[in-house]
Amino acid sequence: MTETSEEMSIRMIEINNLVKNYGTKFAVDDISFKVGKGEIVGFLGPNGAGKSTTMNILTGYLSSTSGEAKVGGIDILENPNEAKKLIGFLPEQPPLYIDMTVNEYLNFVYEIKGCKLNRERHIAEIRQVTKIEDVKNRLIKNLSKGYKQRVGIAQALVGNPPVIIFDEPTVGLDPKQIIEIRNLIRNLGQSHTVILSTHILSEVQSVCDRIIIINEGKIIADERTENITRVVEENRRYSLKICGPQREIQNLLQEIPGVISVELTGERELDSYTYIVEAEKGVDIRKPVFYVLSEKNYPMIGMEPLGMNLEEVFIKIMDMGR
Ligand code: ADP
Ligand code: MG
Repeated sequence: MTETSEEMSIRMIEINNLVKNYGTKFAVDDISFKVGKGEIVGFLGPNGAGKSTTMNILTGYLSSTSGEAKVGGIDILENPNEAKKLIGFLPEQPPLYIDMTVNEYLNFVYEIKGCKLNRERHIAEIRQVTKIEDVKNRLIKNLSKGYKQRVGIAQALVGNPPVIIFDEPTVGLDPKQIIEIRNLIRNLGQSHTVILSTHILSEVQSVCDRIIIINEGKIIADERTENITRVVEENRRYSLKICGPQREIQNLLQEIPGVISVELTGERELDSYTYIVEAEKGVDIRKPVFYVLSEKNYPMIGMEPLGMNLEEVFIKIMDMGR
């Protein structure tokens, strides 16, 4: 990665040759990366990739087998208390005390973090940023999942740490709550260094400047978001729903220049079948498909680009020659 701004050269997070194994199982297998001040980085990978393990080591919740993790230049193993002061962490399972009210809990976190900021003002500011003012006197156990997650984010912000680490912050939320939490993270990114982990590609695309992709404990890509998006959006597969005789239509589609393959999905509705058509790289088959079918009077009642799933994205990115 080339660094452009002066800010980026300030290493807020640095991981070198980090390894964590459980017997013969390598949860994290020799990974290294750096995050500069002010970056929002997405840590993307499927379940079991090693995201939580990396974040738990980086935040001092888990020891590594070997390698180094530094926050703000401070080694988390050598100096855990100092390093932890620089980090706000939202773990996969936020450590909420559900029998406390929101305010009691934030005050409790303030105490255990040994926070020195003006208590009333600081906590009020966090409630405002995370939009939990209206539930401040409610018991945490009675809050919705979305509000609980906000309280989890609020506790991470106590002490105003410059680095914020979120482990799958939108899991289990409904679409409206997901949008709200993403907006909140984006706003935090204006004044903090942020790493968030997720298994959802669109999540990192919408929030992060940079994407680190991890699979089976290894980093397989570390790119600006634009570069990953360019790869992903180069769409070559469509799902087409067409009325008419299946075999003839399949042959018509197959003969269109640039079409590599035509497969039936088995989905059938009245007189229509659904076909998956794959095109050669750089060929836009949408217009020719329309003309061929309309000439024969076979109505096309649906055309949907098929996005890549995470697996396909991985294969694609590994093909980029890394
Ligand atoms: P992710 O957060 O990306 O879903 P994790 O970091 O939780 O992945 O896990 C990475 C791998 O390490 C998984 O295969 C998981 O089963 C394994 N793992 C995690 N914790 C333990 C443990 N305490 N004992 C054995 N294996 C573990
Ligand atoms: Mg995880």
